[in-house]
Amino acid sequence: MPASDVIRSVTLSQVILPLRTAISDAKVLTGRQRPMTEVAFLFCEITTEQGFGGVGFSYSKRAGGPAQFAHAREVAPLLIGEDPSDIPRVYDRLLWAGASVGRSGVATQALAAIDVCLWDLKAKRAGLPLAKLIGPYRDSVRTYNTSGGFLNAPIEEVCERAQRSLADGIGGIKIEVGHPDRGVDMARLKAVRSAIGDAPLMVDANQQWDRATALRMGRRFKDYDLVWIEEPLDAYDAEGHAERARRLDTPIATGEMLASVAEHVRLIDARAADIIQPDAPRVGGITAFLRLVTLADAAGLDLAPHFAMEIHLHLAASYPREPWVEHFDWLDPLFEERLETRDGRMIVPDRPGLGITLSDQCRAWTVDTATFGVRDAVGV
Ligand SMILES: [Mg+2]
Repeated sequence: MPASDVIRSVTLSQVILPLRTAISDAKVLTGRQRPMTEVAFLFCEITTEQGFGGVGFSYSKRAGGPAQFAHAREVAPLLIGEDPSDIPRVYDRLLWAGASVGRSGVATQALAAIDVCLWDLKAKRAGLPLAKLIGPYRDSVRTYNTSGGFLNAPIEEVCERAQRSLADGIGGIKIEVGHPDRGVDMARLKAVRSAIGDAPLMVDANQQWDRATALRMGRRFKDYDLVWIEEPLDAYDAEGHAERARRLDTPIATGEMLASVAEHVRLIDARAADIIQPDAPRVGGITAFLRLVTLADAAGLDLAPHFAMEIHLHLAASYPREPWVEHFDWLDPLFEERLETRDGRMIVPDRPGLGITLSDQCRAWTVDTATFGVRDAVGV
């Protein structure tokens, strides 16, 4: 097989995934957001002259999905004829095409779907799972469940789901806190701790505390032996997070809302967290993710990527320090395959690339699509 290949076609799809129940975290209870009823995905599929195919995705919760799709559609024609293995060079080309709208946020989240697709393709050309292409430290990653612990769910249901998750081989449980009534947070935490025994437990305040409340609540949580307290403060309050990380015994985790490598560098430089939580689609793709986690490792930080376990499992497997990956079953209907959990860990699949195939249901939920170049019935 020649070292070089050529991109023959690019297909972009906007897919709206409906959620079974409307989701509320602390941002809804403080009136900042409405309950979430769907997630918008931007899928990118690429085929090559040699007959390979790749698939990648980015996403947006609430607003932003149509904008991601529109931006990707504008720059995607530049991919035709490029060598798909030259990921940073090709990415830069797309970045400069959209330079007027910046190097973060919607612009680079649109490119993230393309970047993830190019990494999937590269691993498939090599016949390797993505983790093996990058270079893993482990073939499974500790995993915890979030989707059972939202604030809209009655506590009995949260406890029952937590027990079911542990029985299914998931290693830890995260619940949402940040309720305007602090007593509710304490009661829910107490109930879940007693339902799951000594199993690893995390809490997520979704940025809804001020600095004083975060410190006070962090101290009240001390006896619950939490793995971490997530997003106690506004996502961009690096200084406040750093101070909390210094003053509390419980580790602080944050970073999911940040939208570029530069924003994460600020967090890392400030030592604002013990555990960094980047999200590859949100920071502009796998290329950007790998750059920032190299800096996080050098700073001695642990890693727990946010959402999109189908991508992050491979990236977490390749991080030097023992990480966590977030188990969310929301995306299951989009793909043919399922990720396996066993003994508290998620197993890296041995399929080439990300190891995902778009399902018929995913096609049925597609609301907009655009193809550039010539797409044959091969590859993807
Ligand atoms: Mg979170």
